[in-house]
Amino acid sequence: MSKVPALNKERRFPLNMTSAHELILKAKNGVKGNKTSGRYALPAFNVTTYQGIDAAVGAFETLGSSGVLAFSNSALKHFGYGDAIKGLERVHEYVKLVARDSSVKIATHLDHGDYISEGGRKVLQAAVSTLTSVMADNSTDHKNKKATSLEMNIEATREVVEMAHPLGVSVEGELGVLAGVEDEDTHSEVSTYTDPQELKVFLEKTGCLLLAPTIGTMHGPNKGKPGDVVKLNIELAHECLKIANSINEDIVFVAHGASTLYPQVVEHAMAQLKEMGAISDAANTWRDFVGTDWKQIEGLIGAGFCKINTDTENRQTYLASLLAAIKQGPAKIDIRFFEKATYEGLYKSYMQKLIMAGNYGVWHEPKIDVNSFKFEL
Ligand SMILES: [Zn+2]
Repeated sequence: MSKVPALNKERRFPLNMTSAHELILKAKNGVKGNKTSGRYALPAFNVTTYQGIDAAVGAFETLGSSGVLAFSNSALKHFGYGDAIKGLERVHEYVKLVARDSSVKIATHLDHGDYISEGGRKVLQAAVSTLTSVMADNSTDHKNKKATSLEMNIEATREVVEMAHPLGVSVEGELGVLAGVEDEDTHSEVSTYTDPQELKVFLEKTGCLLLAPTIGTMHGPNKGKPGDVVKLNIELAHECLKIANSINEDIVFVAHGASTLYPQVVEHAMAQLKEMGAISDAANTWRDFVGTDWKQIEGLIGAGFCKINTDTENRQTYLASLLAAIKQGPAKIDIRFFEKATYEGLYKSYMQKLIMAGNYGVWHEPKIDVNSFKFEL
């Protein structure tokens, strides 16, 4: 097999934009400005609206954070009113404009791209020529809802690396099957742990520098029953890190399903529902949400998982903020009133996770005192 191309680091992206890998490697090495300190992580925020992009970038700028904006296939379809390629072009132009005036560096990433299905392949190819980073999730055949063979995963991922690396676009692979529901294209009932030996072969043969091994995290808002603590395999994570470092120290891991969920957001939403007389099934659903335990995510960050994907908790914050605004102004005929409420909720939700992950003061000093920041709606 011929050698896989290395990531082209000379590629010039639009102003203030760069590959996700460059930013995530800085986090693995603890680099902030000219200084090196402890390892931190980049929460990759799944954005589905222009407001989501604005709120995330607003939070990056307040804190001087490195930013990853993640777009799933279904989010791109939403942006493009049913056409993912059109959505891709739109968000690319929009983020380019926002980044131009930004004080930080931003990466755009295709979340759960797949090179197995024909439709997925088209989106992935278009993403390679528009975004700065892509995920090639070929561990699952999402259409037929089954795991792919290691050989098939390697072959498909390697093809993506061959296409993306010369353009400076980083590639994230996935190994193992992650349980939970992420969106219409990404769901699985069962989860399997990544086999360290397979990890070695996968990294050597694909040349990808970002990898999501499965170590027990789950997608979606129900990561167990209420009261459960999701158990992650930190020992396996360290074993994987050792192998990855022996191949290439530039390899960084990714944790999917890293939403911790915020109790104050759940309480806030339930209070609104109750006051609106709508407490019943909806409130019970809120009560059943279970996130990933943050202490264990910190354990993963220690093991080189420096991109942590969060989506659910921000969706919850959005809805909780919207419910409060509706309760406050049920007859307010002004879209801006509701938009302002959801923007502020999202902005604070993003800031909270950036601070928890230690991703601040990377490009400039934070504009607020991070130690006294309190996330309240
Ligand atoms: Zn995911």
